[in-house]
Amino acid sequence: MGNFIRIDKWGIFPESGKPYIIAGPCSVENEKMLLETASVLKKAGIPVMRGGLWKPRTRPDSFEGVGEAGLPWMSEAGKTFGIRTATEVANPRHVELALEYGIDMLWIGARTTGNPFLVQEICEVLKGTDVPVLVKNPPVAEPELWIGAIERLERCGIRKIGAVHRGFSTFGKSIYRNDPLWQIPVEIRKALPEIPIFCDPSHIGGNRMLVGDISRKAVSLGFDGLMIETHPDPDNALSDAAQQITPEKLSVLTDSLKVRGESIANASAMSTIEELREEIDIIDGSIIDLIARRMEIVETIGDLKRKDNIQVLQTQRWNRVIEKAVRAAENKNLPGGFIEEIFNIIHREAMERQLRQ
Ligand code: PEP
Ligand code: MN
Repeated sequence: MGNFIRIDKWGIFPESGKPYIIAGPCSVENEKMLLETASVLKKAGIPVMRGGLWKPRTRPDSFEGVGEAGLPWMSEAGKTFGIRTATEVANPRHVELALEYGIDMLWIGARTTGNPFLVQEICEVLKGTDVPVLVKNPPVAEPELWIGAIERLERCGIRKIGAVHRGFSTFGKSIYRNDPLWQIPVEIRKALPEIPIFCDPSHIGGNRMLVGDISRKAVSLGFDGLMIETHPDPDNALSDAAQQITPEKLSVLTDSLKVRGESIANASAMSTIEELREEIDIIDGSIIDLIARRMEIVETIGDLKRKDNIQVLQTQRWNRVIEKAVRAAENKNLPGGFIEEIFNIIHREAMERQLRQ
């Protein structure tokens, strides 16, 4: 692959604008909120306002966006305040309409990236245009699917392409709505070093308390930009209320971002100690999540044992658990004794819980 146009030549972001910020509501709800947001963002020096018109919702009864009706509001807000506009396109018709209304930048959402048929259809209508297109990662942690969507665009002659890391779906408890799995955007950077990578801390965190930390992490890892959901009244937003921040808070956040030297924008620098530590923090978080989940199951079993009058300590069962764990550990070159020690500590806590119940 090649022939990509560098982000500072897209004609969208200021040359010295790194990290490049795109901010705006998850969904465009009405003209008033959009104009209000555009005005504050412009004052805060944000170059691009995002707004979802067609909303891909997980469940059918959620707000699905104002659709086409919001396009004139977006172009009006863009012209009035001198701010660039961006929206999500999920099918060829969306692309045609967005281009007709002069939307400056498009993005392909996570659910669409996961569907190569749809990506191909979108690419076909983009042929011959020079609109910048950002590609969000698919919900599944499959770098090839993400790269594949970018390749399809490139083959249709699109030269202004960026990637957006918005985290990955996982089953089970996590502090994140979508797990960041930072090693995946690092892979993308290695595979496609000419492509700018944005981080979307709003969809990764799913909670406004996490947005600042995730943004700072992304910047320190060498991401080129951020896409942040901003709403004038986040608690009453019609979609993704928990993760949106006010434009005023956004301003404070962007001021807190310190960009390191240019050199960290390349692949090797992203694989530094810092990145490895990020990975360790994520693994540690997962270990805790898994232990917590294990204890929940232990308590459920405790309830059943009590109901059926079964004794708490079942030595045979525990011996089998340990044997299996030691074997699995040794297959991974971990000393059996070390794993046995960890499991005995976990078992002690589990027994105490069942006896306390
Ligand atoms: C969005 O940006 O509002 C959105 C729907 O994001 P994603 O495609 O990442 O879920
Ligand atoms: Mn959203």
